[in-house]
Amino acid sequence: MASAYLQTRHVDPAFEAQLLDSIDKWIDREMRPVVMAHDHGDIWPAQTVDQMVELGLFGATIGEEYGGLGLPATTYAKIVARISSYWMAPTGIFNSHLIMALAIEKFGTPAQKAKWLPMMARGEIRGGLALTEPDAGTDLQALRMTARRDGDHYVVNGTKTWISNGIKGHAFALLVKTDTGVDPRYKGMSLFIADKGLPGFKTGKKIAKLGYNAIDSGELVFEDCRIPADQLIGGVEGQGFFHATGGLELGRINVAARGVGLAEGALRLATQYAQVRKTMGKTISEHQAIQLKLGEMVTRARAARLLTLDAAEAYDRGERVDMEAGMAKYFASEAAVKNAEEAMRIFGGYSYSKEYEIERYYRDALLMCIGEGTNEMQRMIIARQWVKRNPA
Ligand SMILES: Cc1cc2nc3c(=O)[nH]c(=O)nc-3n(C[C@H](O)[C@H](O)[C@H](O)COP(=O)(O)OP(=O)(O)OC[C@H]3O[C@@H](n4cnc5c(N)ncnc54)[C@H](O)[C@@H]3O)c2cc1C
Repeated sequence: MASAYLQTRHVDPAFEAQLLDSIDKWIDREMRPVVMAHDHGDIWPAQTVDQMVELGLFGATIGEEYGGLGLPATTYAKIVARISSYWMAPTGIFNSHLIMALAIEKFGTPAQKAKWLPMMARGEIRGGLALTEPDAGTDLQALRMTARRDGDHYVVNGTKTWISNGIKGHAFALLVKTDTGVDPRYKGMSLFIADKGLPGFKTGKKIAKLGYNAIDSGELVFEDCRIPADQLIGGVEGQGFFHATGGLELGRINVAARGVGLAEGALRLATQYAQVRKTMGKTISEHQAIQLKLGEMVTRARAARLLTLDAAEAYDRGERVDMEAGMAKYFASEAAVKNAEEAMRIFGGYSYSKEYEIERYYRDALLMCIGEGTNEMQRMIIARQWVKRNPA
């Protein structure tokens, strides 16, 4: 497992089984009892984060040479799905962090890797990915944040929004324009490591959300912020677009795994409820209308899991997986939404009560269709790659 890249990694099956067992025990003993209070209060889960550091999750996909676990995408996806089937939000805290780490591990200079990756693997600093701006989400090349070289620093100005870990995180992979005049626009983009100690780097407002509570989504404001030139990832301008999107395949496998967890979790809750709730003298699981729903839900959850593991396995073999990761992300996120909605119907009026958990799955699932490339874009990416692989 000495590769500097995430791909072509393998794990000893016994180690994986032991790791997944520890995660299951942690979920049951520590995480499940605190979910409702943190979600309803939108409270940052400090204790859960500390425990995830202890479990090694902040170093899950960082190479062993930097102190991480060096896990393959397959094991990582299984972990993410397990946690998400009970509470999806915490997986966003370490995933944003790990996508930043991936950009450094894949594209950083030796000095950048040596400085940042061990601290990130130990969870001493938590990272995030700062791409989106108020006027640039899907169309990343439209972003306005600029970085101008000034001696051995860059002077950065602009605002990022919707940044996961934005308030509680310590450092971010920051996508900016170092050249605003070049055509095509992506050639003028560069990715920096921006840490909160830098003068002129301020945290803006925390965004109130429909779901995905407890994890902070925030604004980052840069006013004449001076970033040392040696924090330009890779040390070369103009590569930022590729550096920022180079982690998206793993990011999409992660979102797919979150979708799997949500779809399976909604199914689990609905299955339990349907066998307890009685109408017309029998449990609702005995009514054909509910059986049709459960039959579709279990099939959908299974298909989402298989597509996600298929993409993760291809990633671990070192293959190009934009189509496979796109299909997994698209299908699993839609499966999460559909299963959550069907579970809401199975719960009847109680689905609308905050005393039951199912409403959280419904709120959280909707985000999966937006993050790491919207599902509208996924279908276009899948189709383009499909046509390319099948020339007339
Ligand atoms: C809770 C949350 C957490 C987030 N975390 C992060 C983070 O950590 N870091 C970060 O950088 N960003 C983050 N984001 C931002 C997220 O990545 C963007 O919201 C997403 O990329 C979509 O961009 P947008 O919101 O600007 O929508 P837009 O790009 O304005 O899109 C609006 C609609 O138009 C569609 N559309 C746009 N362009 C096309 C096209 N060419 N063809 C077809 N359809 C199109 C979209 O699919 C969508 O339906 C987060 C967002 C949320 C809600």
